[in-house]
Parts: sequence; structure tokens; C-alpha cells
Amino acid sequence: MTPKEVMEYAKANGAKMVDFRFLDFPGIWQHFSVPISEFDESSFEEGFGFDGSSIRGWQPINASDMLVVPDPGTAVMDPFMQVPTLTVICNVVDPITKEKYTRDPRHIAQKAEAYLNFTGIGDTAYFGPEAEFFIFDDIRYDTASHFSYYHLDSVEGIWNSGRAENPNLGYKPRYKEGYFPVPPSDSLQDLRSEMVMIMQQVGLQIECQHHEVATAGQAEIDMRFAPLVKMGDQLMWFKYIIKNVARRHCKTVTFMPKPLFGDNGSGMHTHVSLWKEGKPLFAGDRYAGLSEMALHAVAGVLKHAAALCAFTNPTTNSYKRLVPGYEAPVNLAYSSRNRSASIRIPMYSPSPKAKRIEVRFPDPSCNGYIAFSALLMAVLDGIEKRMDPGEPLDKDIYALSPEELADVPSTPGSLDEAMKALENDNEFLLKGDVFTEDVIETWIKYKREREVDPVRLRPHPYEFMLYYDI
Ligand code: GLN
Ligand code: MG
Ligand code: MG
Ligand code: MG
Repeated sequence: MTPKEVMEYAKANGAKMVDFRFLDFPGIWQHFSVPISEFDESSFEEGFGFDGSSIRGWQPINASDMLVVPDPGTAVMDPFMQVPTLTVICNVVDPITKEKYTRDPRHIAQKAEAYLNFTGIGDTAYFGPEAEFFIFDDIRYDTASHFSYYHLDSVEGIWNSGRAENPNLGYKPRYKEGYFPVPPSDSLQDLRSEMVMIMQQVGLQIECQHHEVATAGQAEIDMRFAPLVKMGDQLMWFKYIIKNVARRHCKTVTFMPKPLFGDNGSGMHTHVSLWKEGKPLFAGDRYAGLSEMALHAVAGVLKHAAALCAFTNPTTNSYKRLVPGYEAPVNLAYSSRNRSASIRIPMYSPSPKAKRIEVRFPDPSCNGYIAFSALLMAVLDGIEKRMDPGEPLDKDIYALSPEELADVPSTPGSLDEAMKALENDNEFLLKGDVFTEDVIETWIKYKREREVDPVRLRPHPYEFMLYYDI
């Protein structure tokens, strides 16, 4: 839409408010609104001011005034607000220089797309994330526990009711058995469908929804692939819709990668392909129907994987998922058959257009714009340097002996390790000024000070089990 078309669209839909969306460094959508009377075509140039110092990972207090400049191509009516509200995703701009802010994740993604074009290798990078997540009962609305814990007359009432002590677990999938019996074992079919329908309403193209492997509550909804910045935007809508539909039904959603010990975690397998002038560049006659370029791309991702994890697996919890035995990759290898490899080459379709690589280590705690940009830069580095991915690993990696695995590197063991890897390997990200040194330093500092250390310094509940009686 052009600014003029946005104004017409807002009018036709009776918009009373305009809501501006942008994201902080870790990747949570932020917003503020103006009445529609304050908004016209000039708003798309002039923007609106806000205090950038309160946004996590952003401006120091002495340079805090910033602008959001709405991107007209992203305007859509918000599906949740009772007051008709037009929502627009924004770029963050310095009010004096009018330059885009280098720590705005969306700007990083725009620069990554520009760099792809600059190299001449391709003109479009497509991303298809398969974000998994858990849906849990929201304790605030959980009527069953309310009843048994708060509304019974006496303590004996709790014992006698049997509710709190002996919940009936019939039709509740056991750990790793959620993929994917029909209802009543799957109790979330309608909830996922409602999420899908609202996604379609805001323009997301959805290919599939299903229960996932973990116990009751793990879900997956798949979007059709889209170019980098667009997919960054879509992933924000995706999480927003999933969380808000869940809330409507007294549920909550988490995208943290490993909420349950002993069960599968939530990954965000990410399918990547490059195109030029409408032609797929990853299809060819090499291993698993890949082109030589695609194999260089695989090599680039494998070579930079540890540093990539600092962006694609950016939480301390991410590394509780990347362990053997839960369908999450541990070893940095590629294969067409092997789901335990970090990169899989899907073989479902013989069509060259469907040829892509599936990077399996990312998880949905990442900031999509930054994670996809980093992946693209690794892909391009592999192609530019004609890197060799070595032989594919077509065996079940979990079943290999330590000797057989001796030469296969693994994903980092902790967020701290990933940060160290990023410190030592970031030149591929700096090309074309896509990631600046400031962005990388700020990210590492932020993650260490706000996440790695606070988790490391706290006594863990399990330590009490191990050591309290010692
Ligand atoms: N949940 C698994 C992971 O962590 C993936 C399961 C699947 O999609 N096959 O990556
Ligand atoms: Mg899937
Ligand atoms: Mg899945
Ligand atoms: Mg997959």
C-alpha cells in the first residue's frame, strides 16, 4: 500500500487509533498509539517521537529521542483491539540525521537483503521458519485449581476431592507422544485453527498446523516461505497472534526452547533458499538434488554455526534443548535423511523450486530479523569463499560411537560458549555494514550482563536436591 492507500484503508475500516510497532533488541514487539486525527500521509515521512532509552539494549539516556517512521506496506487492522485500530510496523530513525538506527533489528534485516543484491549472487533470500511452542493453562484463569485450592471449605475437602492430588491423566499424551493422535488426546485443535484463521486475516499464508511431539500442549504452525524482512515482520505477527488467541482462552504460550525437562523442546527449523530473477539457485545435480552453490551455503552455515547460535539460539535455555535424544541437533553435519543433523536437505518434493536447506538448530526464542540476517550472511560467506561442506552424514548421529563422532563438531554447550564464538568469529557479519561492531558488542554485553551472569550466579533448585544434605 502507498500512504494514500493506507489512509483510504483506515477510513474504510473505521480506524479510530493508529498503533506503531517496532521491536527491542531481544525481539519483543513494542508499541504506542495516536488517535487517527493525528495521522495523515505526511506521518510516513515525519514519523512520531518516543524515548529510546527505555528500550532494552538501545540508546543511552543522553541521546534518547528517537522517531518511528511507519512503513506503509505493513499497515493492517489489528484483529484483537475492541477499538478499531490500524497497526503499522515502523523503522526507527534518528530525529536529527534522519538515518535509520543501526541497532534496529528490522534495519539489520534490510541491510542484509541489500547486501545480497550487492553481491550479485541472488536477488531474494527466502526464509521458512517452523516455530514450535507450548500452550499451557494460565494459572490466573485455571478454574480447576481455583476450585480445589481456594474454594473448598476445609483442608480435608482438598484431600477428599481427589482433584489436586490425583488428576486423571487419561487422554493426556505422555512425554514425546504428542505427535499426533486425534482429539480428545489432542485438545488444542480448535485453538490452533483459530490462530491460523486470524493469521490469514492479517495476510499470513499458512501451510499447516499440528500438535507436536512433546506432551499435551506443544504445537507447530507453519508459514509459507517469504523474503527476509517480510518474514521478520510475519514472525512478529505470528507470535502476537498465538499469544493473544491463547489469552482469550485462558491459556498462555511460551516460545522458550526447553520448558519441560525430559520432553522435547521447541525448535524453529529454518528453511533457506536463494533465488535470482525468479529462478531457484539451490537446485542442481549434486548431493540430494542441491546445486554447487547450495553446498557452499551449507558449508558456510556449518563453519559459522557456533557464532550463529549467539543469534539463532540466544537464551541460556536454548542450550537445554540442544542435547541428544529430543530430535534437536547436536552435531554440526548435514544430511538428506538425518533429522539429527544440524542441516537437513528435505526430499519431499522433486521440484527445483522447493529445493532448500533446512537449518535445524535455531529456536523460537530468537529475534527473527537478526537470526535470519546472520544465517544469510553465513550462507553468502560460504558461497563467496566457495567453502566445502565435506561429506554428508547419513547415519543416525545419536547412535554413533564417540570415535565415529570424533571429527564432527557440536553446537555450543551454553550461551556463554556461543557468545565467545561470536566474539572470535564475526567478520562475515560485518560485510556490507549489515551488523556493525557496535551491534555485536552490545549484543554480547547485553546477553552476558542480563542473562548469562544472572542465571549463572543463582543457586539452582536442583543444586539443593544434590547438595543440601551433604
Ligand atoms: N521439537 C524438535 C526440536 O527441538 C523438532 C521436532 C520435529 O519437528 N520433528 O527441534
Ligand atoms: Mg515441521
Ligand atoms: Mg516440528
Ligand atoms: Mg522441520
